[in-house]
Amino acid sequence: MTISGHAAVAAVMGWPVSHSRSPRLHGFWLEAYGIDGAYVPLPVAPEGFERALRSLAALGLKGCNVTLPHKEATLALADEADGVARRIGAANTVIVTDEGSLRVTNTDAFGFIENLDQRAPHWKREQPAVVLGAGGASRAVIVALLEAGVPELRLANRTAERGQALADEFGTRVQATAWEERSSALDGAGLLVNTTQLGMTGQPELEIALDPLGQDAVVYDLVYAPLETDLLHRAGALHLTTVDGLGMLLHQARPGFAAWFGHEPEVTGALYAYVAEGL
Ligand code: NAP
Repeated sequence: MTISGHAAVAAVMGWPVSHSRSPRLHGFWLEAYGIDGAYVPLPVAPEGFERALRSLAALGLKGCNVTLPHKEATLALADEADGVARRIGAANTVIVTDEGSLRVTNTDAFGFIENLDQRAPHWKREQPAVVLGAGGASRAVIVALLEAGVPELRLANRTAERGQALADEFGTRVQATAWEERSSALDGAGLLVNTTQLGMTGQPELEIALDPLGQDAVVYDLVYAPLETDLLHRAGALHLTTVDGLGMLLHQARPGFAAWFGHEPEVTGALYAYVAEGL
């Protein structure tokens, strides 16, 4: 669709940014809803990030997404940050207000839980969950699961101190578990979430024995390249419900799109197939 001189414009800033699927994803919605708007990738190096962010209003942009390595800096530079972004310690979505100030949030926790509710509506939120990894994605998953009411969250991370620090920060419902104990930690769990890079194209596979999981357990991998990781393949072979990471990416984009372009977008099979192309 062609755009007019009145087009609403948003962007994604990252360094690098060329790998980002967000322009494809927002472009699909803009086209599908016939919106006079554009969503563009902006490669912004860390040393120029603050200037770039502060220029959004002057350029007339509605806002932007930010990706690595700018998520923490975005939170620090915001005029206004919501509680979710503060709890996660990073922001991924910036909204330029009518007054030109920068309001930020983090939509990863929302994307994580919306995808889980859509793909595995029967998941047992009253049972313990096991989360592997203690990086940025793990923080969003922990915030989402605590908010969903999960009573016990077992956190296993390769670097034990990092896992322990996260458990200490998020309170008694989060318990650090040794990385070597990750298989036995699955005993009685209703949900396993991989937030590490393991299983991603070019990375080693995630080694974990899934047998301790009950038949109604859900296995969720945040990795989406490849779409079906070895972990999800093995879980599927055991007839467990599996959830891949692409849906999280799609759902996390919804609040930004709605704020910038004034339309609540939907995550459909057609969108999923379009963004998955080439993964
Ligand atoms: P990060 O902050 O760098 O954290 C990486 C985590 O992976 C750490 O816990 C790290 O453990 C662990 N790890 C890395 N290599 C490992 C290995 N060889 N063995 C064991 N653990 C290892 O990264 P992130 O931003 O959290 O992203 C993590 C993954 O989530 C990436 O694959 C990313 O693509 C994915 N992700 C997906 C979505 C989505 O929408 N689907 C959103 C965000 C992230 P240590 O602490 O020991 O280093």
